[in-house]
Amino acid sequence: MRKIVIAGNWKMNKTVAESVKLAAEVVAAAKDIKTVTVAIAPTYLALAKVAEVVAGSNVKLAAQDVHWENQGAFTGKVSADMLKEIGVDFVIIGHSEQRTYFGETDATVNKKVRKVQSLGMTPIICIGETLDERKSGQLESVLTRQVNGAYDGLSGDDALRTVIAYEPVWAIGTGVTASDDEAQQAHAFVRGLLATLYGDHVAQSISIQYGGSMKPENAAGLLAQADIDGGLIGGAALKADSFLGIITPGESLNK
Ligand code: PEP
Repeated sequence: MRKIVIAGNWKMNKTVAESVKLAAEVVAAAKDIKTVTVAIAPTYLALAKVAEVVAGSNVKLAAQDVHWENQGAFTGKVSADMLKEIGVDFVIIGHSEQRTYFGETDATVNKKVRKVQSLGMTPIICIGETLDERKSGQLESVLTRQVNGAYDGLSGDDALRTVIAYEPVWAIGTGVTASDDEAQQAHAFVRGLLATLYGDHVAQSISIQYGGSMKPENAAGLLAQADIDGGLIGGAALKADSFLGIITPGESLNK
């Protein structure tokens, strides 16, 4: 059975004080959530304070990125050990904004996934096509390249300790959402790729989130799809009530 995993990616939003406040609101809002795994990803700067707020609650802590080296001359970066020390559970890796603006490649995604897993944290591996790629018929080849790259060298057991976020780049932060059918088709394709790599059992056990303008109004339809196992949420995660409006339809969905 697959877990529904719903994570809020706060991106470069909220001061530390604002993050603490929002985290407390999310903890209160999610206190009766039983079956959905809920996570929030504040900025690096706010992680330590937010860790104190979520401690003992059913809200998990996520980081927005990581570096694959342990330490050293990597100005501006944060290592997996540092995240682990604070109590991070999930690390978002390969977000399209990292790929587009900061030179993330399938090879660096793979290094980050391995490092995060070596410390017992769970990577949320982001994949997804641009509008040009979709329009020019490259959806499947892009997803194949990204999945093969991210999982290069990972065993089936390693793969079981991953989450994927399928995020069509054209839907992120744009207000445009993939239709339920478009999203389901892409998710089924990704699960098929995992089955080719690791067999059906592993493929059926990995949670695949949808990301791209997910909000309370469209969450139920997306989450009801057979291969959609949660969401990675940007804008709608910046308010506790809209985040809860996405989490609630995921309760008691067995996949
Ligand atoms: C994201 O940042 O991963 C995302 C899906 O953002 P939004 O929900 O704002 O489209």
